[in-house]
Amino acid sequence: MVRGTFQLMKSANKSTILNKVRQYGPISRAEIAKETGITPPTVSSIIKELMVEKLVVESVLGESQGGRKPTMLLLNKNDHYVIGVDAGSDSIKVCVSDLVGTILVRSELPIYSHTTIENFLAVMIQAIELGIKDMGANGNKVIGIGIAMHGVVEVATGTSLYSANSGLRNVQIKEVLEKKFDRQVIVENNSRAMALGEYWFGDYGALESFAVINIGRGVGSGIIEDGKLRYGAQDIAGEIGHMTISLDGEKCSCGNQGCFETFVTGNAIVRRAKKKIPDAPDDLSGEKVYEYALKGQKAYQSVLEETGVLIGIGIVNLIHSVNPEKIVLGGGVMKSHEFLMPSILATIQQRALTEKARKNTIINLSRIGDDVTVLGAAALVLKRLF
Ligand SMILES: [Zn+2]
Repeated sequence: MVRGTFQLMKSANKSTILNKVRQYGPISRAEIAKETGITPPTVSSIIKELMVEKLVVESVLGESQGGRKPTMLLLNKNDHYVIGVDAGSDSIKVCVSDLVGTILVRSELPIYSHTTIENFLAVMIQAIELGIKDMGANGNKVIGIGIAMHGVVEVATGTSLYSANSGLRNVQIKEVLEKKFDRQVIVENNSRAMALGEYWFGDYGALESFAVINIGRGVGSGIIEDGKLRYGAQDIAGEIGHMTISLDGEKCSCGNQGCFETFVTGNAIVRRAKKKIPDAPDDLSGEKVYEYALKGQKAYQSVLEETGVLIGIGIVNLIHSVNPEKIVLGGGVMKSHEFLMPSILATIQQRALTEKARKNTIINLSRIGDDVTVLGAAALVLKRLF
């Protein structure tokens, strides 16, 4: 058994109680019993276990309801840590976080193009080692490692099956890292991890269905229903970047033509701007398109507005296939939101099928921002712990 696994295996009651303490602490044993319907002796004995595992601590005394003041319980957020890894195609970002998503340490190392599996894993291991080292003596309190990997991931085996951006296939991330670090490793597709990060740390309350769309170098989405990520039968649910938008469109990295992501990634925006704007500089980048738009250059503003229409079309397809209550947009391209959002929203108003869907689908920007994927990776471990 991998070290730390005992803390990740919990009975339903234990998990319920730990989550009460996490969400509502300081809270008394009596309040937990009342709110969960678990009997007071069971609550007491489970709290005892959680204190031995150093997940829960007693703190200040609460208000007395007549009689002795109850002892309040808090999550012991600083005795266990988790590592989140955002494994992109051009860099590996690592964070070490406490149990409530506070990032204590970060590291980042570049991935060079045409990398090999060995090289990719070596860089990942090195970035994780840097993070653990920076935690000093607390490095041995890391209980698990969550990996948000770009491309298609087989979650059960923790294998990266295919990544169009880095060209790697069948990378056995979980197997290699568990051997190396002797801790549980959970591997997930980066857009799904991002959805989990947004859901776990975005403070949205209870939502029945929730989708996060990540628009950057590629496009992916994570769909959460009843608090659970959706995978589909072959683990590719949410791969909306490869929905066909145009039958005879540009060739995509996946080999098909006219995929959604060939229209809306940073590179796609640059390609379109160069076609439309005769004096566009050769070294134009997505960031520069945004910069020129901000400076008031109408031609660049209209390229972004048009991108908003295209993003809106992709969102309408997602609404029509999944119909989520709320859709959160994140990723590098969404940094240009002031130019994108109006035409995204207008497109949904024009195209979504029913009035209810047009009115009631909530579209938001990510609340977490740049850290959402790395924190989502950390949440992969937290989700097991709680
Ligand atoms: Zn494609």
